[in-house]
Amino acid sequence: MLILETIAEIRDFVSKERAGGRAVGFVPTMGYLHEGHLSLVRRAQEECGPVVVSIFVNPLQFGPKEDFSVYPRDLERDSRLLEECGVDALFHPPGEEMYPGRHRTIVEVGGITGCLCGTSRPGHFQGVATVVTKLLNIVQPHRAYFGQKDAQQVLVIKKMVEDLNIPVEIVTVPTAREADGLAMSSRNVYLTPEQRAAAPILNKSLREAAGAVSKGERDVKKLVAMVSSGINGVEGASIDYVEVRSLPDLEEMEILEVPALMALAVRFGNTRLIDNIILGE
Ligand code: AMP
Repeated sequence: MLILETIAEIRDFVSKERAGGRAVGFVPTMGYLHEGHLSLVRRAQEECGPVVVSIFVNPLQFGPKEDFSVYPRDLERDSRLLEECGVDALFHPPGEEMYPGRHRTIVEVGGITGCLCGTSRPGHFQGVATVVTKLLNIVQPHRAYFGQKDAQQVLVIKKMVEDLNIPVEIVTVPTAREADGLAMSSRNVYLTPEQRAAAPILNKSLREAAGAVSKGERDVKKLVAMVSSGINGVEGASIDYVEVRSLPDLEEMEILEVPALMALAVRFGNTRLIDNIILGE
C-alpha cells in the first residue's frame, strides 16, 4: 500500500489509474479505524478498482471546546489494518498540506445543516463540507463512500455534490454495530466500562420506536417520548436531541410520513454519541 502525504502524489496516483480505465473508490476518514470504516473500504473494493483511503483529522469541523486535540490517533495500527484489507493508497496529509497559510473559503450547505447536529455543533457541517470538497477535488474519485451512522452528514454531502456539480457518485453504507447494537465509533474508546455497558440503549430505544411504527404509531411526539424515556432511564446519559425529520430535507413533522429519519445525540460524561434509524423502511 502506498502511503502518500502530498496532494501532488495522490493526484499522480489517481490520474494514472483513471488513465488506465479503472474506477477509483475513495473512503475519507479521520482514522482510528474500526470495523465501520472497514465496511466502507470493503464496499468500495467490491464496486471499484483501486481504493484510496484518507486519514485526516480535520480541525475545521471541531468546535473550540470540542475534542480535536485529543481525538484518538494511531497511524501505525490504521496503516496495518488498511494494508491487510488490500487498500491501494492511504492519503495522510499533514495539516499544512490541506490548509496552508490563511484558508479563506468555506463551503456551506443551507437548510439541512440548521438542525440536529448542526444545532449542537455550530460550524461543524461547514468544516465537513469544506474538507470533503477539498478531498474530492484532490483525489478525484469515481465513487466516494460514507456511513449511514452519520446520516445528516451523508445528506449534506449528497446535496453539496448535487448543487456544486461535483463529478462523483456518493455511496451510503449501512451502520456497522457491535454485537450489542452500539454503533461503532472512534469515540467509543472514551467510554468508561459503565458507560459502555449503558450505551446500547441508544440503538435499543430507536429499534423500539421503529417497532411501534411498524405497528401503526404515527404520532411523532409519542415516538420521541418513547425513545427519550428509555434513555433518561439510564444513569449518566444526557440527551442532546432526539428528533424525527423528513428525508431528504430534514423538515420537522408531527404526523409521521415514512420513510423518515429518527436521529439522536446523547452524552455520556464528555463523550457525545450519535445514532439513527430510518422509520418505515
Ligand atoms: P470518521 O472517521 O468518524 O470521520 O468516519 C469516516 C467515515 O466512516 C464516515 O463516512 C462515517 O460515517 C463512517 N463510519 C463511522 N462509523 C461507522 C459505522 N459504525 N458504520 C458505518 N460507517 C461508519
